[in-house]
Amino acid sequence: MTDWVTIDGSRGEGGGQILRSALALSLATGRPFRAENIRAGRKKPGLLRQHLTCVRLATQIGYACVEGAELGSPTLTFEPQGCAPGTYHVQVGTAGSTSLVTQAVLPALMFAEGPSELIIEGGTHARQAPPFEFLRDAWMPLMERMGVKVEAELERPGFFPKGGGRLHVRVEPAQEPQPLELLERGAHRSFRATALVARLPRHIGERELAVVGKRLGWQTKDLVVEEREDSAGPGNALVLRVAHEHVTEVFAAFGAVGVPAERVARRVCNAARDWMRSDVPVGAHLADQLMLPLALGAGGVYRTSALTQHSQTNVAVIEQFLGPTIDVQAVADEAVAVHVKGRPYGAAS
Ligand code: ATP
Repeated sequence: MTDWVTIDGSRGEGGGQILRSALALSLATGRPFRAENIRAGRKKPGLLRQHLTCVRLATQIGYACVEGAELGSPTLTFEPQGCAPGTYHVQVGTAGSTSLVTQAVLPALMFAEGPSELIIEGGTHARQAPPFEFLRDAWMPLMERMGVKVEAELERPGFFPKGGGRLHVRVEPAQEPQPLELLERGAHRSFRATALVARLPRHIGERELAVVGKRLGWQTKDLVVEEREDSAGPGNALVLRVAHEHVTEVFAAFGAVGVPAERVARRVCNAARDWMRSDVPVGAHLADQLMLPLALGAGGVYRTSALTQHSQTNVAVIEQFLGPTIDVQAVADEAVAVHVKGRPYGAAS
């Protein structure tokens, strides 16, 4: 009898990450799952476009038998027959995040039998989601250190509400997955602030960068306005990148109608400053997005601040599929070391 996993989507923050993690884990392990109360903690519960796109993509990759894959559905059953690398093209149809759709399947494809290519259309710079630059500059370099070859290209940006952006990801699985150890940042390398201004006046970006220069003291050479005319609708994102020897962190805020550029900039400066003042290498968002790839790879350890609710929920979902996997130990200054047990690649080969 197949060993079904039951996922409670109302656990913790009750958001979409529970479902995305379950999809990746199910594809990687072959274990089917039934999810209930999907996104019960959110104002509009059930499957939204972004989540439905994750399900559709995972269904193609896993030749899965699926029930409940409809807009608004609070339940889903997902029974994969495998995990087939290949070329896949999906459209969210709204500004729902292409990065999040990527993360629902890439952790499984990173350890699959051959290379894959994903073309995902939707939002590339959406609120409450990793912007493209986070995926490319913070998350993917760490996947590379685990032995995976992965690259991402922003073919076209997509913003709320129109979407229409296009993300292209190529992945070659790890030949020999490597454990990741990320306990220190290492020497500081560079700062860079990019104000992405698409079909909007350039002065929005210039005003944002002026705030970054003033509040963080970054030099003019590190402040760049990137104007784009190729997006489906107007949009603005301010992305701050802080590169160290062992890790790059990326912070972002997004322009919105009625929100002054200066306020957008102050928000992201505060997030970057908080991380720079702490001495942990892994920020809160990266922390919840690292544990699953590590658990499907060769494991590892990283140091971060106290675990967010997103991270705690993710630990629980991962352990439902893999058994005891993650051990969190308090270390100095309110930091924690997250130890992740990997899968036994060395022993199997
Ligand atoms: P909902 O919660 O409405 O279902 P959702 O499907 O987008 O929305 P969440 O469960 O909230 O899902 O997960 C959002 C993910 O996006 C988390 O992994 C979080 O760390 C990540 N994230 C949010 N904002 C950022 C950001 N600025 N940079 C990087 N990652 C981010």
